[in-house]
Amino acid sequence: MHDDIPLTTGRAARVLTERIRPAIHTGRIPLEITAHQLPGEPIPSADGLALEFAPFAAGSPWGPAWSTTWFRVRGRVPAAWAGRRVEALVDLGFDPNMPGFQCEGLVYLPGGEPVKSLNPRNQWVRISEQAAGDEEVEFYIEAAANPVLLDYHPFLPTQEGDITTSSPRPLYTVRHMDLAVFEPEVHELSLDLEVLVELQAELPETSPRRMRILQALDDALDRLDLQHIAETAADARSALVDVLASPAEASAHRISAIGHAHIDSAWLWPVRETIRKVARTSTTMTELLGESADFRYGMSSAQQYAWLKEHRPEVWQKVKAAVAEGRFLPLGGMWVESDTVMPTGEAIVRQFLYGQRFFEEEFGVRSRGVWLPDSFGYSPALPQLMRRAGFEWFFTQKISWNQVNRFPHHTFAWEGIDGSRMFTHFPPMDTYNSQLSGMEVAKASRQFRESRVASGSIAPVGWGDGGGGTTREMTGKAERLADLEGSARVRWEHPDAFFERAMAELPKPPVWVGELYLELHRATLTSQHKTKQGNRLTEHLLVEAELWCATAARRLGVQYPYDELDALWKQVLLLQFHDILPGTSIAWVHREAAEQYARVAAAAEALIERAQLALAGEGDQRIVFNASPLAREGVPGLGAAASVSSSAPVRIDEVDGGFVLTNDLVRVTVSDAGLITSAIDLSTGRDAVAAGQPANLLQLHQDFPNMWDAWDVDRFYRNRVTDLTGVDELSAEVRDGAAHVRIARSFSSSSLVQHLVLRPGSRTVEIAQITDWHEVEKFLKLAFPLAVQAEHTAAETQFGYAKRVTHTNTSWEAAKFETSMHRFVHIAEEGFGAALVTDSTYGFDVTRDVDDAGDVTTTVRLSLLRAPRFPDPETDQGEQTHRYGFVVGAGIAEATAEGIALNTAARQRTGSPVAPLVEASPGIVVSGVKLAADRSGDLIVRVYEPYGRRVTGEVRIDGADAVREVSLLEDVIGDAAHDAGRVPVELRPFEVRTYRVS
Ligand SMILES: [Zn+2]
Repeated sequence: MHDDIPLTTGRAARVLTERIRPAIHTGRIPLEITAHQLPGEPIPSADGLALEFAPFAAGSPWGPAWSTTWFRVRGRVPAAWAGRRVEALVDLGFDPNMPGFQCEGLVYLPGGEPVKSLNPRNQWVRISEQAAGDEEVEFYIEAAANPVLLDYHPFLPTQEGDITTSSPRPLYTVRHMDLAVFEPEVHELSLDLEVLVELQAELPETSPRRMRILQALDDALDRLDLQHIAETAADARSALVDVLASPAEASAHRISAIGHAHIDSAWLWPVRETIRKVARTSTTMTELLGESADFRYGMSSAQQYAWLKEHRPEVWQKVKAAVAEGRFLPLGGMWVESDTVMPTGEAIVRQFLYGQRFFEEEFGVRSRGVWLPDSFGYSPALPQLMRRAGFEWFFTQKISWNQVNRFPHHTFAWEGIDGSRMFTHFPPMDTYNSQLSGMEVAKASRQFRESRVASGSIAPVGWGDGGGGTTREMTGKAERLADLEGSARVRWEHPDAFFERAMAELPKPPVWVGELYLELHRATLTSQHKTKQGNRLTEHLLVEAELWCATAARRLGVQYPYDELDALWKQVLLLQFHDILPGTSIAWVHREAAEQYARVAAAAEALIERAQLALAGEGDQRIVFNASPLAREGVPGLGAAASVSSSAPVRIDEVDGGFVLTNDLVRVTVSDAGLITSAIDLSTGRDAVAAGQPANLLQLHQDFPNMWDAWDVDRFYRNRVTDLTGVDELSAEVRDGAAHVRIARSFSSSSLVQHLVLRPGSRTVEIAQITDWHEVEKFLKLAFPLAVQAEHTAAETQFGYAKRVTHTNTSWEAAKFETSMHRFVHIAEEGFGAALVTDSTYGFDVTRDVDDAGDVTTTVRLSLLRAPRFPDPETDQGEQTHRYGFVVGAGIAEATAEGIALNTAARQRTGSPVAPLVEASPGIVVSGVKLAADRSGDLIVRVYEPYGRRVTGEVRIDGADAVREVSLLEDVIGDAAHDAGRVPVELRPFEVRTYRVS
């Protein structure tokens, strides 16, 4: 027969868009609008409802960036609409292409009950399921004029990202606020057609199934009277019944759908707006749960639930009820969806501890899986930490964003640095914001890598990032896709149910070993330096505060500041959210982060001082409190004593306009250009610095990525570089036995000062740097070309280190041209090595050069500062400080020790020595000492193996009677109790163990 497929598909598309969808609502009449605009911060809803309202006409502008306008909307349902479903239609000036990234509203009834949110894909409010006719209508809208920062002009600098710099011009124009009759048959017809049009597009070109669908579409459209859509919709639908009833193939892929709105806890909006975003989306989702019996909605992040509880009790009550019904599902077990590359091990433990405790206290459940769809890469320490916190599965999809390499599995076992494995799933749909389009559903089925042995995948369904969540169109599509020929089967269900099935289908899943490196967003290890610095500092201060407070509580009965420590940790955990710590939020967020870090640091310092003064007592000795678990200068780890140093003072010799610094261990030459030209380990005679290639070399690169300015550094940045060798000032002196060298430089629009210090008895050249940074789109690196033939780097991660090769043999290795570290990165050849340690940076790169003679130089470069202009146009401008160190002749143990030393305080007090509460055998490091989260007064002690080798020893806990092993959530595991505070410990490489003393 003659056929013209595009004629049918084109017809369906036009009729659907121009006739059917507009006919879902009929009889529209305008409502009466009054408004009150508030310029600054939001107010409680009770105050909003009580405002004075002035007349407002549809078509009028409203809303400068970040302001809130309260609308009061009134009207009357016509008598003729009795018995019909009546809805209000509100268009605040939406662009339907951007849910969650522009203006949004929350609708309240006059009594104050929030009923539904308004966003570009959700512009309706139910007024009456069955109107009486002639009834009054009144509701209020809290409308937020959040500016569009990304979509219209992606990555162009904008001042709208902070209320202190945004413009006063109104951003939106209200198009209409109407009352209308909802036509259910037309709505259903539109979904029938949408599902079939999208499905046929994915089928083989001339397959019988596709042909039958096309014929049914033509038949349905023939039955439709385009001037009387509502009246003929049911007849048109009847032509589609057969093709919609034809069941899926027996082997069809199964999609476990979960309603979702990945709400970023801050990003292109401040935290205060996220609180409202969570309230809006949760309100709409509880409403949708009421409309669709099969639907399930999942929300992660205990913090977001805690916001509802504190700020929106009316919404919290609805959510709590839906959680109790098992339909609103708390996911993930973390405080926020944090970055996992940069936080310390203790911080990741707190993400789990505070997250799961909240879910357990409020809902009586814990999450069985970790839900992190969007963080920028995943640390290889995570599998062990997830396992030891009791999780059974891990979910993400971000690795599908890889620039180069396609990940080989969707359902697999992920093995971490210690050998722990975690059952993991990546949705093959490659999104956490699915709309259940035919294309997405087909993609999941087509791309799924484990189809030989496994039947399904997960799809998070709903508008995300800025919120919005699942729509009634999506639940309508899911209904039709439950069992449909040619499509994957879609079913709403808890991810736990999916994972149970997947584990049964894959008893021996494929294995991926090591980090889940994201081949994108590599600059998130460097952007917004002060945020990184605040994180590193406060993480360490809080662990220190816990140590001294726990010691004072156990020894002296001093009250442990549970409330304060919990609040401070929760603040730091929130700031580890995957757009805050990575430095990818607007200026407002990072400005607030700096203030919050300063507050946390001051509060932690006060707790530390109070505990130390109590512990030091009445004596008059000068003592040093050593918060490091390792002894230094005669002071035991985790204790306080007089400091003793027996090393000879450092000698400075002036040579060729530069300086040679010598102590018992190393001899370091600083040239007249302020560069380190030699660093000799005196015990081996080896020079760590490559001949003719100076170290401590600052290098300035042009850095203008193709997109995602704060997120990305593109490989070509390396091709253009300026070595900063000009010196304004160079001087040296011996002070208190240590050699101090001061180097001042200016370059481009900036200047910096480095203070190099070599102390007696130390093999570390410490460098404190103050930079007055005024660059645009530049990347500042600090290079150490080292005479070490290193096969790999060892960079600290949580409770251990990750190894990465120094060559680029494969595309996977070549893609890792910027990678992560915590406090140290170490390189070595057999018998000799060196390390760099830092107090506030996370990014580094390594290159390998070989000269004609075959001499290998391994160049390690720390990433110090960037200057992207989106989303914060002033990123990192002004004064910035760094501390880092070059450890000459270091094994992994020295690298670990120096990294810890640079990041933990040694505080001088007057009093009497304090014996450590906890001591561990050599090779076992104590990472945390605190009182239990359940406030029982029990002591919690955590230890780990840091060097990557097996170790046998013991942990001694002063004053302890029975000691039991616990999980990271502090639950007792096993029943072996160890008496008298001595715990024999056997650890495999990088193993973490936690103990509880009752
Ligand atoms: Zn996100």
